Amino acid sequence: MARRDRTGGDVTGPQIRIDGVRRQFVRRDKTTVRALDDISFSVEHGEFLVLLGPSGCGKSTLLRTIAGLEQLDAGSISLQGRAVVDPARGIDIPTERRRLSMMFQSYALWPHLTVSQNVAYPLKARGVKRGEISRRVSDVLAMVGIPELASQHPGQISGGQAQRVALARALVSRDEIVLFDEPLSNVDAKVRETLRAEIGRLHKASGFTAVYVTHDQEEALTLATRICVMRQGAVQQIGTPEDLYDRPNSRYVATFMGSINEMPATFDGTVVDGRAIVDTPLGRLPVDYPARQNGELVVFSRPEAWDARPAGSAGAGRGIELPGRVNSATFLGSFVDLRVFVSGHEILVRTMDRTIGAGDDIVLGISPDRLIGRVDDGAPVAEEPVADTASVMAVGSRS
Ligand code: ATP
Repeated sequence: MARRDRTGGDVTGPQIRIDGVRRQFVRRDKTTVRALDDISFSVEHGEFLVLLGPSGCGKSTLLRTIAGLEQLDAGSISLQGRAVVDPARGIDIPTERRRLSMMFQSYALWPHLTVSQNVAYPLKARGVKRGEISRRVSDVLAMVGIPELASQHPGQISGGQAQRVALARALVSRDEIVLFDEPLSNVDAKVRETLRAEIGRLHKASGFTAVYVTHDQEEALTLATRICVMRQGAVQQIGTPEDLYDRPNSRYVATFMGSINEMPATFDGTVVDGRAIVDTPLGRLPVDYPARQNGELVVFSRPEAWDARPAGSAGAGRGIELPGRVNSATFLGSFVDLRVFVSGHEILVRTMDRTIGAGDDIVLGISPDRLIGRVDDGAPVAEEPVADTASVMAVGSRS
């Protein structure tokens, strides 16, 4: 039996279904760019899917094709089980009939209308009755925490408040699908953090289906139920935040999702207790290497996956233990970044132990499942890693 959303729409199947979508642009110099290169995935009711990737990877183009603001060359998109665009079948339903709402980077508020009138705009355009509009506008303004701004004009409110108005306007129609195009990139860090939490809270409370574009990995990890990492118009990996952070399928995803250590290794086919045993600059180590392809690979590890303790003290029994010496310790507030030499190679270790300092002899521990072995696909590190590039370190590059 069909399940219904707040507006009576069928939420039984995927709310968004993208099949083999392609979009190519010809630049002024006649070169072509494949902005979308055979993209397929589905988004279920209530999911919060984040499209993540560096500038130019195709995030906005994909969002705009879902909204009907950009055309497709091939493929199809269905929303709530209904084909909205399919060039092969001559289908292209205009934006206003796709039953979705959008929130953009720029607030795009009408300066001559009050906050209430701006928020009421989409309802008016859909012919909703006056009484109902006024009820819904008051409700949504209270929901986003700005009921007192109802009669102000956009020129009289702050950037953060304007973005709350834009959020209210995106939610007032109560559409099942809400699309967000980098909505927080124009507001300062503090406001961004508050609004991000607010969007997450409203999503949980209202249960809409969200697709959210950002190049900010922290934003993606905080909001997403699933993240889709894009690269040059294609999907590089799609999965839960934990999947992408702990089990990246490539160097590109590994580096994009946060600080990481990287070292070359070779695999000769030896498997012990279900784990690949590989030769690394730190010695022969068991790692998580599902590809099991003989030859060269890369081994990644997150800085916080390592456990640091003074030499001679009892260990946490993480599996692998290696002696090292701290080269530098940088206090960063809630944690300390240690650069540790192990067998002549440097590893970045993130710890909460403030007692360890430069020059200390320590023992590093790590569980083999936190050593991520992947085929070296030669992919460059992501063009725009969110962590500073200094923290993407090649083991062996003594600096
Ligand atoms: P950003 O985070 O900078 O907005 P993005 O990941 O959203 O980037 P898109 O805006 O989707 O990337 O662009 C994808 C590619 O398509 C880029 O190479 C861009 O230059 C190109 N592109 C997008 N729109 C057009 C257009 N109208 N004409 C020509 N090229 C375009």
